[in-house]
Amino acid sequence: MDIFQLLLESKKEKGSLRKQLLDSLNVKEFFEEGDITINHRTCQGIECELCIKACPTKALYWRNGKIGIVQDLCVYCGACVLCCIVDDCIKVTRKRSDGKIEHFSKPGEVVQLCRKINSRRRHDRVEHLFPDAETYLKRYRKL
Ligand code: SF4
Ligand code: SF4
Repeated sequence: MDIFQLLLESKKEKGSLRKQLLDSLNVKEFFEEGDITINHRTCQGIECELCIKACPTKALYWRNGKIGIVQDLCVYCGACVLCCIVDDCIKVTRKRSDGKIEHFSKPGEVVQLCRKINSRRRHDRVEHLFPDAETYLKRYRKL
């Protein structure tokens, strides 16, 4: 086995915990790739711990005076960034299946991103229901 095979194996192993978690919840992997980091110098640690309470997958924990991350359990949802009291303390990057990359490290950025995603969904839904003006008029024109 060469170094590249070893790297591939360790990547597969790294994802196994996440696969177990998602399979047990019957949830498909939403993001192709992602990364999360915490700046321990700016983190308010023991006085805060809001991110630990907010994380839905228990990927964050408190040990030896700082917040730890189980990278494999993180699904890059952004809940921890949304509730973090320090801007740019938690940084999340995630890649969607269409190749689009999203970064956020402040609550405002998460809110903005969610709004953008919701308005795109609304737009797609309306376009699906009314692909052209004629379809709209057929449904709503007064007889
Ligand atoms: S991004 Fe979501 S899953 Fe990952 S650590 Fe933060 S709250 Fe937990
Ligand atoms: S929410 Fe932010 S400041 Fe608070 S413990 Fe977590 S990373 Fe640190």
